[in-house]
Amino acid sequence: MNINIIGAGLAGCEAAVFLADRDYTVNLYEMKPTKYSPAHTKPGFAELVCSNSLKSISLSSGHGLLKREMELFASLTIEAAKNSSVPAGQALAVDRDIFTDYITNRVRGHKNINLIYGEITDIEKFLESNSGITIIATGPLTSDALSDSLKNYFDNRDLFFFDAAAPIVSTESLDLNKLFYQSRYGKGEADYLNSCMDRDLYYRFVDELIKADKVTPRDFEDKKVFEGCMPVESVAQRGVETLAFGPMKPVGIASRNGYLA
Ligand SMILES: Cc1cc2nc3c(=O)[nH]c(=O)nc-3n(C[C@H](O)[C@H](O)[C@H](O)COP(=O)(O)OP(=O)(O)OC[C@H]3O[C@@H](n4cnc5c(N)ncnc54)[C@H](O)[C@@H]3O)c2cc1C
Repeated sequence: MNINIIGAGLAGCEAAVFLADRDYTVNLYEMKPTKYSPAHTKPGFAELVCSNSLKSISLSSGHGLLKREMELFASLTIEAAKNSSVPAGQALAVDRDIFTDYITNRVRGHKNINLIYGEITDIEKFLESNSGITIIATGPLTSDALSDSLKNYFDNRDLFFFDAAAPIVSTESLDLNKLFYQSRYGKGEADYLNSCMDRDLYYRFVDELIKADKVTPRDFEDKKVFEGCMPVESVAQRGVETLAFGPMKPVGIASRNGYLA
């Protein structure tokens, strides 16, 4: 049976290789490099447009369990992540370029996968002219034409997507004399940079963060924020102590008397 997959992102590539490995013929459609979404910039497949961390590998966390389950069914994403991992303590973080290259090569080299480049704009026409099962894996930034076509196909119900881009801090911009490497609760390698702040420095930090230049939302972005994944400056704006009880909670750091809190 023919399987059509639209979108060679993380989901599309995972599905394509899984099915192709089981002798299905897969037609994989991808609009890059002819057309890029506002966040994608590289021609390879399964491009990570934000965080390079796939989060914890600890089996006592939901993230870790999910990854272990994926590994048990021979997940391409996990295989690629393990082959492109960078030090990140208890987390599985990857080198984005090596990760993408790995997946791109696996997909391109697969005898059961036919790659078809170009944007799919009309889902009804696509389904009429392509037999077999179709998986739509065009992700949160599905091209406008296909989004509109999907809205019509599904009775005009709106499609929503909330997310935030992880900030990238360049090493050259840091004064490493004022920072120290340590892992939380001594788990894994000391891969995280930490900074000691007293009360005044913390308040100054929050103040500067709120005053700092912000990323201007792109046309496709809404200013609403998703409570489960808020930009750090939005957290800071909720109150001067909010960060101290949230993402900057000073816990798990070794001190002379054991771990803080
Ligand atoms: C700005 C931003 C930040 C994000 N941050 C995170 C994060 O930190 N952590 C996290 O887990 N997730 C994050 N995400 C979500 C992230 O996109 C998904 O985790 C992951 O990429 C989803 O995989 P996917 O395969 O569904 O989509 P994608 O990886 O986006 O792949 C979709 C593919 O479909 C192609 N495509 C789109 N439209 C068409 C079309 N009409 N015809 C043909 N091809 C098409 C695209 O070019 C792309 O290659 C973020 C997303 C964005 C946009």
